[in-house]
Amino acid sequence: TRQWHLASRPTGEPTMENFDLVTVDLDDPGSGEVLVRTLYQSVDPYMRGRMRDAESYEEPWDVGEPMQAGVVGEVVESNHDAYESGDIVTGELLWAEHAIADGDDLRPVDPDHGPISTALGTLGMPGVTAYFGMLDVAEPTPGDTVVVSAAAGAVGSVAGQLARLAGARVVGTAGSDEKVEWLTDELGFDAAINYKETDDLGRAMAEACPDGIDVYFDNVGGPITDAVWPLLNVRSRVAVCGQISIYNATEVPTGPRKLAKLIESRARVEGLLVRDYEDRWGEALRRLSTFIQNEEIRYRQHTVEGFENAPDAFLGLFEGDNIGKQLVQVGEY
Ligand code: NDP
Repeated sequence: TRQWHLASRPTGEPTMENFDLVTVDLDDPGSGEVLVRTLYQSVDPYMRGRMRDAESYEEPWDVGEPMQAGVVGEVVESNHDAYESGDIVTGELLWAEHAIADGDDLRPVDPDHGPISTALGTLGMPGVTAYFGMLDVAEPTPGDTVVVSAAAGAVGSVAGQLARLAGARVVGTAGSDEKVEWLTDELGFDAAINYKETDDLGRAMAEACPDGIDVYFDNVGGPITDAVWPLLNVRSRVAVCGQISIYNATEVPTGPRKLAKLIESRARVEGLLVRDYEDRWGEALRRLSTFIQNEEIRYRQHTVEGFENAPDAFLGLFEGDNIGKQLVQVGEY
């Protein structure tokens, strides 16, 4: 089978030099193990952190070893009671066309519940992140103004729609006019800002949020956060989900700025980590599935074809190539 290995650690923006396409022979699956053929592979911003040799909430990947990824695949051979060949499963596997997994680490995917690839997006880790980040950490109430950054991405698009369903007024930021139109015309955002085409972000944010900001769900940090900060209302909540604008930074940017604003606003700033919610994963998926079935939450996927293009798909996240969840289609289903 083919696997993508980490060839070297990137400095700044990753390049193709950092990836190595390797062909390996797989052993037969052992007791309790399952051989899975990858149909869809996820690429996610957090992977940039795992390419780095630094303490973080995820272990760094080893140079010369295969990289991990969320996968939806088909069981080819199973030595685990819960699975038989032909079943569709999802789990944390490898950047690989085939991989062997411990059956206990897999979850079944029911193809009758909609496209199986959603198990990597709206009905997977990004959807669950949005669900708990918005409803458990940010807690919007009716009439609140909620700002979501990277709003047209996998997490942001779900987070914004959950805030809308909670009765909030929702404002998104995104990097293209097409994304802005999708947010306002199809997802029901009340306003959206194309930050790449806006000279004065602070002014655009103030115009989009005339009553200030009660909730900020942050996926990006940097200048967008700077534009949000002066508008934070009294008792507002900031859920820090991601900081993609600095994932490729080579110098540590200046530390937290404008903290005096927190004194005036008594705002609560709280980070979130989806893996804290492992026990409640099912609850989030049940509610998200219902929202999707009722078309109260809509989603898009940006699918790059071909395993050999997986690094390109990953690099595209930092260019904003994706509308909705970025996926790699590896096998035919
Ligand atoms: P997305 O689908 O949102 O893809 C990333 C998007 O980020 C791009 O499409 C791009 O959109 C935007 N972006 C890239 N570079 C910049 C930049 N310099 N400034 C502003 N925006 C930028 O990815 P996910 O939904 O998977 O993840 C979103 C965030 O959530 C990430 O920061 C990720 O690390 C975080 N996350 C956190 C989790 C947690 O447990 N805390 C779990 C999962 C994700 P645009 O065109 O708008 O620029």
